[in-house]
Amino acid sequence: MSKYWSSIVNRTDPYVPGEQINDSSLIKLNTNENTYPPPESVIKAIQDEIGESLKLYPSPTVDELREAIAKAYDVRKENIFVGNGSDEVLAFSFMAFFEPGVTIRFPAITYSFYTVYAKLFNIPYEEVRLNQDFTLNTHSLFHSEGGVIFPNPNAPTGILLPIEQVEEVLLHNQEKVVIIDEAYSDFAKESAVPLIQKYPNLLVIQTTSKSRSLAGLRVGYAIGSPELIEGLNKIKNSFNSYTIDRLAMAGAIAAMNADSYYKKTTAKVIETREWLSEELSQLGFHVLPSQANFIFISHPNKKAKSLYAQLKENGILVRHFSKAAIENFIRITIGTKQDMITLLERLKIIL
Ligand code: PMP
Repeated sequence: MSKYWSSIVNRTDPYVPGEQINDSSLIKLNTNENTYPPPESVIKAIQDEIGESLKLYPSPTVDELREAIAKAYDVRKENIFVGNGSDEVLAFSFMAFFEPGVTIRFPAITYSFYTVYAKLFNIPYEEVRLNQDFTLNTHSLFHSEGGVIFPNPNAPTGILLPIEQVEEVLLHNQEKVVIIDEAYSDFAKESAVPLIQKYPNLLVIQTTSKSRSLAGLRVGYAIGSPELIEGLNKIKNSFNSYTIDRLAMAGAIAAMNADSYYKKTTAKVIETREWLSEELSQLGFHVLPSQANFIFISHPNKKAKSLYAQLKENGILVRHFSKAAIENFIRITIGTKQDMITLLERLKIIL
């Protein structure tokens, strides 16, 4: 391979997704999927879409789904952009709002896709250190040269930045785009969506993968001012105008209309999270206060890497990250109460 070509191909280290093992005997708690299935209405809507209409392209403007999302968030269709999972919406956002050569900022411990996109699109970045207790140091995000991105709740810590502090970050970056990745915010007590009316530079990104139990459908969306949404449309239409297929569109519309089902499943996840956090603390774990559908824990007497390996041997898959700052932690997705009881039993044997 020529030096030129290999330098382009090696510009970024690709994101390494969590293990996707198809083994129903395994309790899978490693990639923060929802433990509850999507409602019947979603499955039926997808089934109903299977037919002759598949010969036709889907709507490039995704109007019907954007209407449904807008209704769910009490905003207008012009405030909504839809993509193939929030990972794709994030990629489009990096391209639309962050400039090659101009430094952006994000937390040092965060969703690892941000460094991948930054390197891929030649956007320099500063990783700002978290406080000792893993909370975000908002001052370090003020007056960024090229923009700011952070997840709220943060991943993989699960810690939520209170809305007043989110607003401070916005106030001190009014000339730059601030992207808040709210993949997990339905499990948290607040969201920044209402702030889009006040801050035209705010883009909130959400997904149907977590609270709406549709990781397999790949539908994510951004909520922001019409100007930002227009910027995203230009990027999308420069790549692939049809990012969402007909089946995904039908399923996601039904999901937007199933709020009462999802309120119940989300409440169950939150209740199990709180109960499990307490049980794990009693076993001597350090449990970060999570507002997501996962928890991030460490134990003073046990290396996280071997905890991960021993749990896997015992039929439970969790996530361990090799990055030095968090190598003492494992991340566990909240499952059903029964899954969590099994987890606790196996942990007691391992410890
Ligand atoms: N943001 C964060 C913080 C995540 O953890 C994930 C899930 N890996 C995503 C975005 C992407 O989710 P999806 O592409 O399934 O919408």
